[in-house]
Amino acid sequence: MARTPFICGNWKMHKTVGEAVELIDGLLPRIESLAGVEVGVAPTFTALHAVSKRITGSKIRLSAQNCHFEGQGAFTGEISVGMLKDVGCMYSLVGHSERRTLFGETNDSCAKKISALFASGLLPIYCVGETLEQRDGNQTLPVVTEQLLVGLGNLDAGQVSNVVVAYEPVWAIGTGRTATPDQAQEVHAHLRAELAKKWGDETAQAVRIQYGGSMKPANAAELLAQPDIDGGLIGGAALKADSFAEICAAAA
Ligand code: PEP
Repeated sequence: MARTPFICGNWKMHKTVGEAVELIDGLLPRIESLAGVEVGVAPTFTALHAVSKRITGSKIRLSAQNCHFEGQGAFTGEISVGMLKDVGCMYSLVGHSERRTLFGETNDSCAKKISALFASGLLPIYCVGETLEQRDGNQTLPVVTEQLLVGLGNLDAGQVSNVVVAYEPVWAIGTGRTATPDQAQEVHAHLRAELAKKWGDETAQAVRIQYGGSMKPANAAELLAQPDIDGGLIGGAALKADSFAEICAAAA
């Protein structure tokens, strides 16, 4: 099955509203003519509204970086999925390793967030990945399998086929160290096989699995050439229009 590659920029805690608009204005003309690739950006909460207005009618999709699983209430500092929908988001990242490590996110809380996204018609970009210690201890495949199956555990096959999974080895995020194409492909193929075991092959073939971890213009093409790598989740290289657009072009 042909899967449209999906390149999404994770802007993390970078960019004021003005800087975010400047970045998106630089990006729009650079990706306008690209075909065969879906492009998304995940700005900070404060920049979502301004970026949303800028990309209306364009091919860029809006994603949040996080969400809360409750619809509303006494959850100081949190943002609901309904609020993200209201501002124009189509996606939200769930379970980014920085949220797992620094903010106590677990596979179970990810599962709740993913259910909440589907309940409101949004889609998750669900991040999984092993630490260096886990890789060195030969735990990569069991760790990502548990993250995958628990996080997506509440979904039926139709929902799973619309999930975007991002495989992000923690040791490669923001470190300049990238997984080799073979290392990444091995995990991507494993994740797809696990999806097939639980939800069937047709569903597994529909799921886009992005690679994330120091992807940049210099290494994007060889990673994206792997049969089970269907795009990228891009941190550092997404903060400049030129480098992000070059990665989008490599996927197109
Ligand atoms: C990320 O934060 O999702 C990421 C992949 O970051 P970087 O590209 O900077 O490694």
